[in-house]
Amino acid sequence: MMHLASRLNGIKASASADISLRVRGLRAKGRDIIDLGIGQPDFDTPAHIVEAAAKAGRDGQTRYPPTQGTLVLREAVSAKFARDNDLAYHVSEILISNGAKQVIFNALMATLEPGDEVLLCAPHFDSYASMVRVLGGVPVLLAVHERDGFILRPEGLAMGITERTRWLFLNSPGNPTGAVYQASDYQALLPILEARPTVQVLSDEIYEHIIFDGLKAVSFAAACPGLKERTLTVNGASKAYAMTGFRIGYGGGPAPLMKAMMVVQSQICSGACSLAQAATVAALEGPQDFVERARQAYERRRDLVVQSIEALPGISLKKPSGAFYALLSVAQMALIDKGGDDRAVAAFFLNQAGVATVPGHVYGLSPFLRLSLAASEEKIAEALERMRKAIDNSS
Ligand code: PMP
Repeated sequence: MMHLASRLNGIKASASADISLRVRGLRAKGRDIIDLGIGQPDFDTPAHIVEAAAKAGRDGQTRYPPTQGTLVLREAVSAKFARDNDLAYHVSEILISNGAKQVIFNALMATLEPGDEVLLCAPHFDSYASMVRVLGGVPVLLAVHERDGFILRPEGLAMGITERTRWLFLNSPGNPTGAVYQASDYQALLPILEARPTVQVLSDEIYEHIIFDGLKAVSFAAACPGLKERTLTVNGASKAYAMTGFRIGYGGGPAPLMKAMMVVQSQICSGACSLAQAATVAALEGPQDFVERARQAYERRRDLVVQSIEALPGISLKKPSGAFYALLSVAQMALIDKGGDDRAVAAFFLNQAGVATVPGHVYGLSPFLRLSLAASEEKIAEALERMRKAIDNSS
């Protein structure tokens, strides 16, 4: 029998990938399924970005790039941090990795001792907890409340922070909540963080450009410059430029941390794909009109869900301010009343409505369902109508 390391006990493949697999299986059997499980942009990558990758290949950029990322890309990222985030990161404080996921994994690998605690808001992007566990750390969930717009408040932080806390993870705009932190939300956490100088902050800002109602994303380290030296700012090309397949993420942080993360990366993968790095330079330095067009489309879809949700008995939604998800509260559904959980609700909609969603337990908060807005307005409208009918037929 194949021996598998105990560090993998209880670790599963990412939930939305698992749901996509199930959707594929059902479609293969002839079922018409609308997939609102997957969290990736449904737009094509802009042509000038794809062309930059092809050109890099033709120009012979096909050898190992520097482990920390090409200098041109690190310069482009440094300029991007200054332009969009009011953050000064020297190229020596920037690391390019295979997706934001690898930036996060490198950081944990470089810093976590067994038993170290990592504070995550519940709900949170599911991979955070799995990465912490696989590295021997302990994810500690901080409750954030719908009534607070799913923003972490100082009382919540105070309840979870201990002398074992190594990291606090923040994610704005948030997956799956759509919560957007203002500078004052971050600054309210400062006294507690200042009293614990060994806690580092990971600010995952990958959805920064997908933000609604005229709001502007604020970087944690810009709002709290006194903590910049213990903050890792995480971002990437996947969401803003519809480049999930290119696998480019980047981090900005204090040079000693970035150097340790580079050492980890050097032994694991020798860095990120040279062609994808060239494409990301084109994304960051080229025309930005795609980013705004996509943002507007996500906002229209968000509005559509907010308007349609009233017709769904037992389901409510705290209007998301960013990212491309709607986190539906299903607490008042009859299925929950009868003792079901959000897995049962997700299974109900998959089987009875042909709509794939992700149950909230995956993100550490139940009973909720995450609906992705990365589908056309027509598909989203049809999915919601099918869900309404399924509820009507079951009552
Ligand atoms: N952070 C968050 C909050 C995400 O939702 C995702 C993707 N689902 C990532 C990071 C990973 O992005 P990447 O494709 O750059 O690895």
